[in-house]
Amino acid sequence: MARAGHYRIAELAELTRLPRRTVAVDQMLAGIGFTHGTPRGYRRGCRRAEICVNVGTFDPTCTEANRAYMAAFRERRRAGEGHAAPHGTRAGFLAGCRDEEFCPRNDSGESCLSVARLYARDWKRAVRHSGPEPAMAPELMDAVLRLYVSGYSHRQIARAGDIGKSTVGRYLQLARAGQYCPMPHQIIAGFRRAVASLS
Ligand SMILES: [Zn+2]
Ligand SMILES: [Zn+2]
Repeated sequence: MARAGHYRIAELAELTRLPRRTVAVDQMLAGIGFTHGTPRGYRRGCRRAEICVNVGTFDPTCTEANRAYMAAFRERRRAGEGHAAPHGTRAGFLAGCRDEEFCPRNDSGESCLSVARLYARDWKRAVRHSGPEPAMAPELMDAVLRLYVSGYSHRQIARAGDIGKSTVGRYLQLARAGQYCPMPHQIIAGFRRAVASLS
């Protein structure tokens, strides 16, 4: 199945339209994989009031739910709520601290920018030396699934392995479906770390 992420973007003509990742219309209308009246429904493609099953009811449509969610998010951000990203970390860089000079730096004197640069360099180096991607190891992913089933959240597994939470979710979903696709070395190493530290 062709998916947007699988195209070699560099080889496409500049004006080629990339396929959007959407769910089939009938699935969407049935709300398969999500509940209507949620920001998630909006993200899954229910983006017009008239196609939402909630239109004309007392429940919000996906569009309304998403608008309310985004408004609340912007409000929280304006109010400065949430945890500030610590300086001298990649999270700080991603949160917008990109100036070497003004970053207060971490205890070791590193700025967000320098940490992010090191991270990018290590990442590229790892990719260059990794060769073809090995398949997802079924035993490893079964061990991760066991962690999840025994009560560890995606977030906890991600922290223990130093990988992304959505990455954990994505690969667990595949593993649960019995699909073992190629997986980058760094991710495999991360899952190994998680299993070693949580099992
Ligand atoms: Zn909807
Ligand atoms: Zn900083």
